[in-house]
Amino acid sequence: MSGPRPDAGIASLWRDTSDQAFDLPCLRGDAQADVVIIGGGYTGLAAAHRLAQRGMAPLVVDANPIGWGASGRNGGVVSAKFRLAFPVIAQRHGIEVARRMHRLALRSVDEVASLVEEYGLADARFIRCGNLRCAHTERAFGYLTEEAQWMRRELGDDSLRLLSAGEVAEETGSRAFTGGVLSHGVGTLHPLNYVRGLARGLTQRHGTIVFELTPVTGIRREADGVRVVTAQGEIRARQVIMATNAYSDLTPASAMIRSRLVPFRSSIIATEVLPAALQQSLLVNARSYGETRRMMRWFRKVDGRFMFGGRGAFGKRDSKAAFTALRRAMVAMFPDLAGVAITHRWSGHVAMTMDALPHVGRFDDRLSYAAGYNGAGVAMSTLLGGLAADFAAGESPDVALLEASRLKAVPLYPLREVAVRLVAGWYQFLDAIGR
Ligand SMILES: Cc1cc2nc3c(=O)[nH]c(=O)nc-3n(C[C@H](O)[C@H](O)[C@H](O)COP(=O)(O)OP(=O)(O)OC[C@H]3O[C@@H](n4cnc5c(N)ncnc54)[C@H](O)[C@@H]3O)c2cc1C
Repeated sequence: MSGPRPDAGIASLWRDTSDQAFDLPCLRGDAQADVVIIGGGYTGLAAAHRLAQRGMAPLVVDANPIGWGASGRNGGVVSAKFRLAFPVIAQRHGIEVARRMHRLALRSVDEVASLVEEYGLADARFIRCGNLRCAHTERAFGYLTEEAQWMRRELGDDSLRLLSAGEVAEETGSRAFTGGVLSHGVGTLHPLNYVRGLARGLTQRHGTIVFELTPVTGIRREADGVRVVTAQGEIRARQVIMATNAYSDLTPASAMIRSRLVPFRSSIIATEVLPAALQQSLLVNARSYGETRRMMRWFRKVDGRFMFGGRGAFGKRDSKAAFTALRRAMVAMFPDLAGVAITHRWSGHVAMTMDALPHVGRFDDRLSYAAGYNGAGVAMSTLLGGLAADFAAGESPDVALLEASRLKAVPLYPLREVAVRLVAGWYQFLDAIGR
């Protein structure tokens, strides 16, 4: 790659608060590995960790600096869920499948905890502070209540507690909600420090196996393996893992993933450090918080600042209007923030799938992948990266509905952006009328 070094972690609050900055080399010339992993976010690095643990030789290449993708830009909310609710999974596929999916979701958070511990990533600031889901209408609170009761009864999940409107107001400092459900066990982290910490930990333990600024431009199959073509050389390997997720459009090498995902922009704003009085009245338990609208917004506090996220601009470019809309939504929920300045605005792409679930497994005898986290991928990509490595090593772990064959191509792919706008507009309309 020529020209200036792309900005690791973009102009986010994470970049300005990261204590893990370091450069990794770019791969020049030819190399050899058991498995080449394309993409150095959580998926790719978790896969490298698992392969190294198995005694295999992985090699990770990323087109950008580590943390440039969603793994360095996200909200840092560590959740144990899929976009598809567990009662819906049970309704469509039976209770046994819902139980297997629930176990995978819980395991994903444990996997984050285990990597943080194994590599001593105190800077990742992972804490199990819990998540509070806040209902925006009485009707939504009714659904939340039913869901929590169902989770307890059918899945034995006793980590959920119902909170009244008054309790939610006391905890959040907002009177916009009709009640909420608190889940314990889940948490938050510093996303950029987590991804950089993983890359550094792998490098310290296994030598130089993670390369930045090394775009893969092609993959050639050969009788005894694959040849992965990079900007400045070739890597010979037995297997490839595609870990490019929502950024699968950077080169044609990941076309088979790209055609199965719909990228959707997600945006975040962060305020200046809050005055002491607001620090004490807003989000007093410093958990992560989300709400029940279809076009969901979420919020948390980081180093005394208020962070608020939701849908971003449509299309290829960010827009001022999308950030203004996000701020308006934040002030509508938290009128006390009306006079507080916004210091950071950034966005990134999440990858949606046709069935609202991520998938992991094999494309063919040489190629495995994990992708499609539908905006909830911090913990899930950590788990599925490891499982993609197991598939690449020739195993077939139980992944319930996440199996690879269920990842369907997006129909009428060229029209996907129009479709995203239509669906988002319809969801916003339903949210606005409280349905
Ligand atoms: C703004 C935002 C907020 C989010 N908030 C949350 C949240 O709070 N909680 C949550 O659970 N999830 C959240 N997510 C989702 C989560 O961040 C992702 O699901 C997760 O980081 C995906 O990790 P990944 O490793 O699969 O992909 P990425 O981290 O995106 O990594 C993919 C990498 O592939 C590289 N690449 C692509 N093509 C090539 C190529 N040809 N050659 C070499 N490298 C290539 C890219 O450079 C990129 O670094 C959010 C996402 C965004 C964008």
